[in-house]
Amino acid sequence: MPRQDPKVRATNFNEVALGYTEEQAVSEAERCLSCKKRPCIAGCPVEVDIPEFIGFVAKRDFRAAARKLKEKNSLPAICGRVCPQEEQCERFCVLGKKQEPVAIGRLERFVADWELEHGVETPQTAAPTGKSVAVVGSGPAGLTVAGDLAKLGHRVVVFEALHKPGGVLVYGIPEFRLPKAIVAREVEYVKKLGVEVRVDHVIGRIYTIEELMTEEGFDAVYICTGAGLPTFMSIPGENLAGVYSANEFLTRSNLMKAYDFAAHKATPIKVGSRVVVVGGGNVAMDSARTALRLGADEVHNVYRRSRVEMPARAEEVENAEEEGIIFELLTNPVAILGDDKGRVRSVRCIRMELGEPDASGRRRPVPVKGSEFELECETLVMAIGNGANPLISQTTPSLAVNRWGYIVVDEATGATNIPGVYAGGDIVRGAATVILAMGDGRMSARAIHEYLSKE
Ligand SMILES: Cc1cc2nc3c(=O)[nH]c(=O)nc-3n(C[C@H](O)[C@H](O)[C@H](O)COP(=O)(O)OP(=O)(O)OC[C@H]3O[C@@H](n4cnc5c(N)ncnc54)[C@H](O)[C@@H]3O)c2cc1C
Repeated sequence: MPRQDPKVRATNFNEVALGYTEEQAVSEAERCLSCKKRPCIAGCPVEVDIPEFIGFVAKRDFRAAARKLKEKNSLPAICGRVCPQEEQCERFCVLGKKQEPVAIGRLERFVADWELEHGVETPQTAAPTGKSVAVVGSGPAGLTVAGDLAKLGHRVVVFEALHKPGGVLVYGIPEFRLPKAIVAREVEYVKKLGVEVRVDHVIGRIYTIEELMTEEGFDAVYICTGAGLPTFMSIPGENLAGVYSANEFLTRSNLMKAYDFAAHKATPIKVGSRVVVVGGGNVAMDSARTALRLGADEVHNVYRRSRVEMPARAEEVENAEEEGIIFELLTNPVAILGDDKGRVRSVRCIRMELGEPDASGRRRPVPVKGSEFELECETLVMAIGNGANPLISQTTPSLAVNRWGYIVVDEATGATNIPGVYAGGDIVRGAATVILAMGDGRMSARAIHEYLSKE
């Protein structure tokens, strides 16, 4: 797929990948063998009928392709951009055994963008059932469960703590991977189905879960508050000025327009000339590439294992490399050092080697004695994972959570231990993916519908 030149894109926030033209999409779709067994569908957590939608692209019937996609996926422009397709649908493509698999994600993105440009069809919703559902959180799990329940005729209100709906799609994933306008248009689609979205509503503060059901009269509640609690390493110096959690760094840049501070006078962000980002996942890549675009001269990514163990999507690691991110692999921070004003000035790191596999199945990183060195930096971003925000569980003490604070649910329905209360997405799984959160939303929409139909 055509992409912006790395040197140019490292200085702007425009989307990196430019998308297929109609000709490119049709010729890619023509590669699909339309196999009888259709293994790609089993690789899609929301079971999109992939060969069917690709077949319509090959016939240039893009409207029909969009309809087919939307039968199972209400956020295709988002999934086409950020789903780990290489691990899912494309991994099972029969063509992939001998050559490149069909670029299913890129075709999904093409069809979704085509539909956004040519007018989005709103499907018919069922007659009102008189039942209402509160959805707490507006990320991919919330938008999916809300859309599906609205189609079934239920009244749905989504409560979102932040001032914009979309969850990580707006505050985490940067503009250059997922333009905010795309998320806004897919949120609009969910609203067109009849869903009401109330932003600036922190559940647990404005209403508790119990109050939503008793005082506000909702018949069921779906909790999908994500895993947005920043994690630190508990090393000296983490309180120094200039040390950010990835969450804060990305939220300031994405949601509060810190990258356009002069024009918007919203929230500033301190970058300086040298930035160190700690971690090896998508969040770390997004933070490092954002720091570069915010004007850093040098961005170092510190990761304690080797490149093959990096949990980030391979494509995004390559993009980061091309843009000039400097990788310090098999390296771990041990202390952050400050100047006399309490500002970060460097990070002391130690080189690592890989030992025996640990519980995660990956080889355990072991420090190499005497290999400590210092990396100078004016900003340090910790991107080593997130935890469950405890607000809902603290204000709903009867809700069963596990020892990490994630909500315990029935795996087949998403039902919690409280009747009528369901949960899904990262607040159940821990940090996972957009499509898994959507799959949870879809599964619970069916279960909530069944529950409401019996009530
Ligand atoms: C920087 C970054 C990059 C990522 N890149 C990818 C990627 O490339 N591909 C991929 O598949 N996944 C990626 N992920 C993971 C993916 O975004 C998440 O797995 C997914 O968004 C989880 O969806 P969710 O609906 O469970 O929660 P979220 O998207 O986290 O949404 C939860 C929402 O609930 C709101 N909320 C929280 N508490 C309350 C409350 N008390 N009251 C009301 N609202 C509340 C939050 O403000 C938030 O808007 C990335 C994550 C991050 C952080």
